[in-house]
Amino acid sequence: MSEDLEQALKVERHPERAVKDRDVALAILGEGLICHVGFVAAGRPWVIPTMYARDGEVLYLHGSPASRMLTGLAGGIEVSVTVTLLDGLVLARSVFSHSMNYRSVVIVGTAREIVDPDAKLAAMRALVEHVLPGRWDEARQPNSKEMATTLVLALPLDHLSTKVRTGPPSDGAADRSLPVWAGEIPLTLTFGTPRADALVADPVLPGSVIAQTARGVRG
Ligand SMILES: Cc1cc2nc3c(=O)[nH]c(=O)nc-3n(C[C@H](O)[C@H](O)[C@H](O)COP(=O)(O)OP(=O)(O)OC[C@H]3O[C@@H](n4cnc5c(N)ncnc54)[C@H](O)[C@@H]3O)c2cc1C
Repeated sequence: MSEDLEQALKVERHPERAVKDRDVALAILGEGLICHVGFVAAGRPWVIPTMYARDGEVLYLHGSPASRMLTGLAGGIEVSVTVTLLDGLVLARSVFSHSMNYRSVVIVGTAREIVDPDAKLAAMRALVEHVLPGRWDEARQPNSKEMATTLVLALPLDHLSTKVRTGPPSDGAADRSLPVWAGEIPLTLTFGTPRADALVADPVLPGSVIAQTARGVRG
């Protein structure tokens, strides 16, 4: 990593929340469903939400070749991607000290287009399986037209930072005796009861849906 980039990825505020353990970053990327992709195009900064998947040491992004984000990235512009998991609201005695518990990863780098058909198919499979394990084999596979109208990019996970906040509020000493309720409200992403599409003839749920519903939560 270049020294400049290493410096740029250094968590400045609350450096004690920076996490160096790469496995923590990978676990966050594994649990998240969406990322936000930041880039500069036509002289303006943009941040676009989209789905992703991690496979080994790369993050896959995909979509229409007409997407400005994807064509820009495929053209080699630098990108910053964030994945954030919100774990709770942190209510302090002072409004100033209110916070959130979270786990987040920031990745910077340059994505490359995946053109090899087998690698592209594997990336598309990874994207589907990331969202709902087991779903790829339950649904129709992409045909050549769908493959041609999908742009798939791989962003290397070479340069990233991880920041995690956990625990109770951190009021200043003078505020700790105030008669104000303080604490945490945990937050979890949960799945509701599946609703079949009106045209579904067979009411039996597929394995991927049963497994996710049984788990209830994401992660
Ligand atoms: C849900 C949530 C709510 C937040 N609310 C606030 C808020 O209200 N106000 C506020 O100031 N901050 C908030 N933060 C923290 C915010 O993400 C930054 O960490 C913060 O602005 C401090 O940035 P900095 O000045 O240290 O770093 P910057 O100079 O902005 O960044 C330096 C480097 O630190 C790394 N970095 C910074 N933040 C993160 C992160 N969250 N995850 C991984 N890497 C990171 C990046 O690599 C970045 O390049 C929130 C974070 C989350 C996830």
